[in-house]
Formats: sequence, C-alpha cells, structure tokens
Amino acid sequence: MLVQLPLNRASNFAMENDLKSPKRKRAVPLKKMSSQNVASQKEPQEEKQSICDMEDMFSDIETQKIRKALLGWYEDNCRDLPWRRRTNKEEEEDEEKEKRAYGVWVSEVMLQQTRVQTVIQYYNRWMLKWPTLHHLAQASLEEVNEMWAGLGYYRRARFLLEGAKMIIAGGDGFPKTISSLRKVPGIGEYTAGAIASIAFEEVAPVVDGNVVRVLARLKAICANPKHKTIVKNFWKLAAQLVDPCLPGDFNQSLMELGAIICTPMNPSCSLCPVSSHCRAYSISKEDKSVVVTDYPAKVLKVKQRKEYSAVCVVEILGSHDIVEGQNTGSRFLLVKRPNEGLLAGLWEFPSITLDKEADLTLRKNEIDHLLKKSFRLERGMTYQKISREEVGEFFHIFSHIRLKVYVELLVICLKGERSDLFSEQDNEVMSWKCVDSKALATLGLTSGVRKVYNMVQKLKQKKLST
Ligand code: SF4
Repeated sequence: MLVQLPLNRASNFAMENDLKSPKRKRAVPLKKMSSQNVASQKEPQEEKQSICDMEDMFSDIETQKIRKALLGWYEDNCRDLPWRRRTNKEEEEDEEKEKRAYGVWVSEVMLQQTRVQTVIQYYNRWMLKWPTLHHLAQASLEEVNEMWAGLGYYRRARFLLEGAKMIIAGGDGFPKTISSLRKVPGIGEYTAGAIASIAFEEVAPVVDGNVVRVLARLKAICANPKHKTIVKNFWKLAAQLVDPCLPGDFNQSLMELGAIICTPMNPSCSLCPVSSHCRAYSISKEDKSVVVTDYPAKVLKVKQRKEYSAVCVVEILGSHDIVEGQNTGSRFLLVKRPNEGLLAGLWEFPSITLDKEADLTLRKNEIDHLLKKSFRLERGMTYQKISREEVGEFFHIFSHIRLKVYVELLVICLKGERSDLFSEQDNEVMSWKCVDSKALATLGLTSGVRKVYNMVQKLKQKKLST
C-alpha cells in the first residue's frame, strides 16, 4: 500500500520498489499532485505498489489494543438505533437471531447512500408493516416500492423482496454464514459480513466507506481506496482486526467510529479512542503541511452523463372516471416503467427521453406522438384541450446520470366513449392507471416524480392566488 511515514515531509510517498522485502525501506516522495491527495480510477503503478506485506499489517499487540479500545468506546458511545436493539434474553433463540439478521439486512440495505436519520423513519415504518421475513415474503413489488419511495436505488428494494421470497421458499431458515448469505440476491460481501457477524457471531470483517476511512488513517494509506487491489487489502486489515469473541460489536464499533468521530471532513481526533495507534494523526502532529483528512486519497468521480427528458402531466377533467365509470374529479395519468433498467417497475407521469436539449415545439411534438401512440390521446379526436403550459425544468441527479427534466401540464376533457379510450392498449407492454390527486399525494412515488407533481401543484396555487 502507499504509506506515508512520519519522517517524510511531502504529502504523497511510496515505498521503494522492492515491496516484497519484509524490512521497511526508506520512503521516497511522489510528486505532490495538489493540496490534497487525489487518485484517478486507474493507476497502473498502484497494482504493484499495493501488495500488502506483513509490515503493512497491524502487529499482534497493536491489534489487541485497538480491539480493546474500540470495544470499550463502543459500549459507552454507540448510538441507540432501532436495528441495534436486542431482546433481554440471556441467550437468543434461533428465532430471535433470525429476526435480528432480518433487521440488520433491511437497515444495511437502507443505509447504503442514505443518512442514518432518514433511515430510522423508513426502517420503523418497514418493520411495522413487515416485522419478519415471512411477512416481507408475502408483499408485492408495488407495496415494497411504495414503502421505499424516496430512498432511491429501487433495485435494492426489489432484491430485498426477492431475497425474502427465496429464503422462505428454501425452508431452511435465514442463512447464517457468509457463503450461504452470498447466494441471496442483492447480498454482497459487505452485507453478508454485517449479517453474519452481528446476528450469528461469525468472525468475519466488514468494509464500508467508514471502515476504509478509519483504516486508511490508522495506517496512513494514501492509495486509491477504490482500486480493487487496495480494497482487497482493506478487507485483509479489517479481517486481522476483527475481534474473535465479539465480531459483531467490533465491526459496528469500527463503522461507528468512522460515522461519528473519524468523519470525512472534520474528524475529532482528540476524542478518538485509537488516536495513539493512528499513523495519520501522528504524521499530522509532526508535519503541519499534512492533515489527517489527506487520507484516504480523494478519488476523482466518474463524470455523470447528461440526459434529457420531457414529462407531461396529463390531468383529465370530467365527471366520469374513465376506468370505472363513476363520478369523480380530475385524474392524473400514470405509466409504469419497464420491469428492467433504471427505476424498474415504478410509476411516473408520461415522459419521453430526448437526444439533447430540445425547444418547446419539439418537446410538444414528441409528447403528442407518445400520447397518441400509447394512449390514443389525440387532440380534437379523443380529447379536448383545456390548457397546456410549461411548468418548468429541473435537474435530477442519479449516481451516474445528470438528468434534465422539462415539465409541462396538459389539462384535457375526454370525448366520446371514454371508458374505451385505453382498451386497445397492450397492457403487457405498457401498464397505466389514472389516480386522483388525493391518491397521488399518498402514493409511494420516486423523488423525481414527486418533484414534478409538487411543481404542478405550486403552479396551480400561484394561478389561484393571482
Ligand atoms: S486519530 Fe483522528 S484520524 Fe486517526 S482514527 Fe482517530 S479520528 Fe481518525
């Protein structure tokens, strides 16, 4: 690994070429790249330089001391989070352990990319609706998506459901080991390690972003933390540290330290229980040009690709519900996304993807074509236009996409035999439904769709007030 040593003065260092030597060589500085360490995604030299030889590991004494310090600190300082609560039983029954495993699984999936404070509400609501794996296995994808709405990364919710169904169908209870957990859809190395160590006391490490940061600072590792060889080495270090008697608590203590003390930008080193073992801290005290936040190296983010989309909120006025023939107020047309790909199986307003930025005329033409082709909604023929106006535009950010969304509102009255309007559509290709504003307000919608709806509501309110 790239290691910065206390005696050196520059902010990036590498060991001399012979990394296989068990003896530490004199460190040589690399060219300083910027005020902070920055790593690109591909660094061919890194592969060679990242061999984790024994001198990069923790000594036995260091390991013992770090375990003791972290476990003691965790006992006194861990946050009271719903998925950490244990029963009062001295020895947990299998059933209790499985319940705990389920809680750890749900919370860990929710916590990926989402703040703890946000997750708590989602977790509590989820557990109220599906308190056990058996309950979850009975749920539909639509229910799960609704419960997940706003958390993003809906594929994870789908995997939770598929995983629950698979485990229940298998009839062998909750998988208890890393190897059996890895067979469940959506359970990767990290989640398997968390479940196996926390719920079933398997002596297994976990490595998430918090753990990487703590380990990188403890060992003053400034290599690219996303590089696959470096990642493997973090797993080795974590495996060396994990406490054989309390693996679950130890793993949580390491993650907790990263979450509340060894934070990305503002670590509280003076409160840190392992500061006396922290090489980055020691270097920063000797060399004022070095700060602990130089570790790990900052990774240049992959550039997001730009995409463009035009959304048309179709509001259907009239006394008839077009599906059920009942007297109702206005309704909004929703379409189900395909079952594969981004936001698979979720409901949204009709939309089209554009090749590039497009002016209003082009967008209207594209939308008109979509409405006619998919819903037989054709102005003058099947509907009468009441109003059509631009609502606005916004950017919606996915991890790899920067989506520009143009929003318009089309208010219409249907003509002729309204209940027949959509009857010729092939529902296997495109599913749709019309919902009233009350249902829309309570429906589990993605944050992007919710944003569109809120824009429409704001526009309406503004018009009412003027
Ligand atoms: S001393 Fe500071 S940098 Fe080192 S592990 Fe503790 S909080 Fe992190």
